[in-house]
Amino acid sequence: MPSAALKFPAEIFALVFPDDCRVCGAPLKEISRVPVCRKCLAEPAPLEAEHFCVCCRTAFANAFPLDETGRCGLCRLGVNRFDAVYSFGAYDGTLRKLIHLFKYGRIRTLAAPLGRLLALTLAAGETFDAVVPMPLHWWRRWRRGFNQSELLAREVARRCGLEVTPAVRRVRATATQAGLSNSRRRKNVAGAFEVRRPDAVRGLRVALVDDVLTTGATANACAAALKRAGARRVTVLTLARVDRRSAADLSGGVSG
Ligand SMILES: [Zn+2]
Ligand SMILES: [Zn+2]
Repeated sequence: MPSAALKFPAEIFALVFPDDCRVCGAPLKEISRVPVCRKCLAEPAPLEAEHFCVCCRTAFANAFPLDETGRCGLCRLGVNRFDAVYSFGAYDGTLRKLIHLFKYGRIRTLAAPLGRLLALTLAAGETFDAVVPMPLHWWRRWRRGFNQSELLAREVARRCGLEVTPAVRRVRATATQAGLSNSRRRKNVAGAFEVRRPDAVRGLRVALVDDVLTTGATANACAAALKRAGARRVTVLTLARVDRRSAADLSGGVSG
């Protein structure tokens, strides 16, 4: 069996030294559990906007959609049940590729570097009593093997000196949100969430963690459930958000 004996170390070698960066394709020179090069991991930049809603922080190309208090139409109408939203970056470019690798490529080790980017939203200075991940329906979680929001929430919780509190359950599997209009998305997710541990959120300031914010419909439905269960304040923290100023592509398996 000389060939098998010679092949074995080569396979081990391949495990320790993954060949190319999964984002840019450059050969990886360092031993790492993350198959992405340093340059690509350092590339995502914070979302910058001159005009944004003071409540949901949606970025606008100009100040026209904002009223004198700085709120957008949806927040002015009271449609949004969350109190604030903070996102690290725009859902495009390298950040989008990293999120796809994490979720659909199931590269769990990206949770740590992506969680560190998410934790930068804590610089907004809010204080939290509970960190709640956006739940996945059990079927989707089972197929993926993990809930990406739960892994991301760990970094936020750690920095707040808290444990992750999986207080919310998805009681209804919702059709994918991609390709639906804003109002259809809101109908699609209405009633999809149930707080299974009201005692874990009652009277508390909750950080609701998700990977991507598209229209905010999913975050809004989950925030509504948390408010009904007695949460005092719900702040949504996401790694990325669709920046509608650039007419970003809404497809690609975004869940809401
Ligand atoms: Zn790279
Ligand atoms: Zn708003």
